[in-house]
Amino acid sequence: MKKLLPKNQVKLGNPDHFNAANDHNPLVLPDCPVCKGYGKQDVSSGGGSVWSLMECAECNGKGFVVGGTPEPYFTKGNTAKEVRRNSAGWIKCTFCGKAFKDYDRNVFTGLRHKCGQKLIIIEN
Ligand SMILES: [Zn+2]
Ligand SMILES: [Zn+2]
Repeated sequence: MKKLLPKNQVKLGNPDHFNAANDHNPLVLPDCPVCKGYGKQDVSSGGGSVWSLMECAECNGKGFVVGGTPEPYFTKGNTAKEVRRNSAGWIKCTFCGKAFKDYDRNVFTGLRHKCGQKLIIIEN
């Protein structure tokens, strides 16, 4: 059993995180609900006229809740859809409609688009 990673430390492009063994959908510790995984918060002082970026008090800047209930990284898109590249090499996600290049591992794990949709690329 691998160590559970916080969602904000999981990278789409890392095959240790997204691979066939976990269906490209690892269990992760959920993001901190206050800072959404960012680890920082805008805090106002002086009646809202001054804002400063402070370490999130909810999670102490970690961006996740220690002891949080593990959840799948993706919650949707589990039914694979077939897609084709267009003539310029772009693939359009069937779920979110965004176009991307499948070699871009910041947006595509090799199976799932960053929205979670599983895409089977049909080579022409
Ligand atoms: Zn936080
Ligand atoms: Zn998508």
